[in-house]
Amino acid sequence: MNEVIAVIEDEPDIIELISLHLKKAGFRVEGFETGDGFFKFLPKRIPDLVILDLMLPDADGLEICKFLKKKDEFSAIPVIMVTAKGEETDKILGLELGADDYVTKPFSPKELTARVKAVLRRKTQKEEAKVIEIGQILSINPDKFEALVEGQKIELTSTEFRILELLASKKGWVFTRDKILDYLWGDEKLVLDRTIDVHVKNLREKLGKAKTLIKNVRGIGYKVEE
Ligand code: CA
Repeated sequence: MNEVIAVIEDEPDIIELISLHLKKAGFRVEGFETGDGFFKFLPKRIPDLVILDLMLPDADGLEICKFLKKKDEFSAIPVIMVTAKGEETDKILGLELGADDYVTKPFSPKELTARVKAVLRRKTQKEEAKVIEIGQILSINPDKFEALVEGQKIELTSTEFRILELLASKKGWVFTRDKILDYLWGDEKLVLDRTIDVHVKNLREKLGKAKTLIKNVRGIGYKVEE
């Protein structure tokens, strides 16, 4: 499936020019002449990257950037700002708000395409770096809430996943039941230590071949070890 690039830019000619080059590079492009149009689209399909003109008639590009970077569900979307010449402050503000890169008008569409590719590459590398591999059999992706045993996805409840993620985050470390409870429920923990044992038991069953990676440390708690 092609990656979707959202272009928010009030000049249709520029949208067309950007689209032409990005489509040639294999991307799908959705153009929006207003911030409003973009926000109507956003819940339907989260774009893989946003190209954002900071000077829009109906919205402040910086506000759009701020909104995206503050919301958990959108904060991972890379943003490339398009700034006008001489708008240094906007550029700096945008980068502080979490924008990933910028181009200054007038820009070459080829350069923009190269930047899009570079930003997406960095994003993929970042995501891959977060994946935890254990014993060449178990792989955990915290962003995707996904655990794979020998490449096969296993279905875990969110509690089971979070226990696994916690234990795997520090291989060889022993986590007491109390620590695990704290991590899962914080101050709102109303459950007993025993609950952890039940979750771990279920988790182990689901892990199949990888179940021996979770070890019980008698009288203390649990750990993940190869
Ligand atoms: Ca503009």
